[in-house]
Amino acid sequence: MQRVVVVGAGLAGLQTVVALRSAGFAGRLSLVGAEDRAPYDLPPLSKAMLSGAAENSSLEADWAALDVDLRLGERALRLADGTLQTDRGTLAWDGLVLAVGAEPARLPGGGRGAGAGSRAVLTLRTHDDAVRLRSHLLPGARLVIVGAGWIAAEVATAAVAAGVEVTVLEAARAPFAAALPEDVGARLALLWSAIDLRLNSTVAIVESTGVSLVGGERVAADVVLIAVGARPATAWLAGSGVALAGRAVAVDSHLRSTMPGVLAVGDCAGWESARYGTRLLVEHWDNALHAPSVAAANLLGGTVVYDPVPYFWSEQWARMVQYAGHHPAGDRLVWRDGADGSWAVFWLAVDRLVAALTVDRPRDLVQARRLMASGASVDATLLVDQGVPVKACI
Ligand code: FAD
Repeated sequence: MQRVVVVGAGLAGLQTVVALRSAGFAGRLSLVGAEDRAPYDLPPLSKAMLSGAAENSSLEADWAALDVDLRLGERALRLADGTLQTDRGTLAWDGLVLAVGAEPARLPGGGRGAGAGSRAVLTLRTHDDAVRLRSHLLPGARLVIVGAGWIAAEVATAAVAAGVEVTVLEAARAPFAAALPEDVGARLALLWSAIDLRLNSTVAIVESTGVSLVGGERVAADVVLIAVGARPATAWLAGSGVALAGRAVAVDSHLRSTMPGVLAVGDCAGWESARYGTRLLVEHWDNALHAPSVAAANLLGGTVVYDPVPYFWSEQWARMVQYAGHHPAGDRLVWRDGADGSWAVFWLAVDRLVAALTVDRPRDLVQARRLMASGASVDATLLVDQGVPVKACI
């Protein structure tokens, strides 16, 4: 293998070039990124960058030592056997890793960019999106967020602290409907008391001056944020020989796609998980951090299996919310309440722990994740007791 091209210069792309060099790859290595900005981290965009605690979220890299042909502001357009066509020319490859991440989903009328006057319809995915959103978080401004998911919770937290009036419109009966069962989302909704959370509110059309709901009601806004999820940025791969599963690049347990020599990592890749018996598309930081070392090893001839217990966190309303596992694999819920307002919920499949969500209980989360990885059988009667360490509930 002489020439490797990594497409997408986010966390997963950067981790891939680092892992390839760490694994001893000494050939030509190109990193192609559509944004005109060196790799940066996404989680601070909805946290420190909105609160003003940080101006950027750059990821550190020793580019000289990595000896990478860093091609920023260059978009991949077409993939063929051994070549990648971009908007600047054609690159030859012997091995290629897709790390193109995801793009925010849109709604009718919910285009990107400024609307009339100072009003705007925005999404939050990139550094520039965060800078633009922050400029609208002024005292007294009316922010309407469409979709009550993780990004909505974090943006609303920062906006309320900035003196913004926040309304969140959600079509489902509880927040986090795409990620969590209704009863767990409803419990998390108790944290949203500082804003106007309107459930069962389906948005019909989004404009820069506000949002119209199905049924005709109109909610006026100075700025609208569309936060209804993200989709793998894979449209350009159509017809390439790389099979998709939904929008995700379909990869096996070694992160190999259907096209020989092409692997995929991060938010764009759906891998076959033997642990859960299904294909997983996990759009979380921990996955973008860890999958690349497996992809790099396998691109260089290894047969390493990628099958982690997925993990993510969210910081909202001065609380730390953490999740590990894959709860659709579970068949019952066990709740645990702390004396200090913290709580946890565990999903069990018979007597195995398959997922956990904790609020301000990081130790429970770490121990639960270890139990999931070990496959130990757990005692649900102990799990409910906040005085018993999770690791002792076996
Ligand atoms: P990306 O960071 O999206 O990088 C992909 C890159 O590829 C982009 O720069 C894109 O421009 C480029 N690209 C796309 N198409 C092309 C093309 N055709 N040619 C060239 N380049 C292309 N996860 C957590 O676990 N906890 C959190 O608290 C958390 N907070 C988050 C907050 C925000 C605002 C967002 C958006 C995400 C958050 N996440 C969080 C999710 C997590 O950050 C992501 O899962 C992770 O960063 C994905 O990294 P990635 O490299 O796969 O994708």
